[in-house]
Amino acid sequence: SQRTLVLLKPDTVRRGLVGEILGRFEAKGLSIVAMELRTIDGETADQHYAEHVERDFYPPLRAFVTSGPLVALVLEGDEAIEVVRALNGATDGRKAAPGTIRGDLSLSNRENLVHGSDSAESAAREIKLWFPDVP
Ligand code: ATP
Repeated sequence: SQRTLVLLKPDTVRRGLVGEILGRFEAKGLSIVAMELRTIDGETADQHYAEHVERDFYPPLRAFVTSGPLVALVLEGDEAIEVVRALNGATDGRKAAPGTIRGDLSLSNRENLVHGSDSAESAAREIKLWFPDVP
């Protein structure tokens, strides 16, 4: 079994889609290990998106992820990292396949509702960043 760090970004909370999206992860069979509604500051955004801080798209992404509460969670299950990314769909909601969270619910490449760790290394780093006290 494997753990992954998932964010239901501020657009999810704003649009009232927390239940819909969390329901998809639960229905798939993933377990919730930790979960918190939180509004982050720019420094936390910079740490989370360390690999993107120099990119052109980062300043508006930083403004977006700090714009309101998001839900951070740790999900656990067999191959959870890959399973969550498959459920999330392609980054750009306009191109993501129907049946995926982004494909069904997002029409944007920035406001794409969810984040999921992209590797075991990222998952370990992000879980430590968001939930330092989760054993
Ligand atoms: P995440 O890391 O959030 O699961 P991802 O791995 O599909 O998404 P990344 O390439 O890591 O996508 O980009 C991180 C986030 O930055 C995206 O989820 C999206 O919100 C934003 N983003 C990425 N590319 C662009 C872009 N070209 N324009 C605007 N926002 C972007």
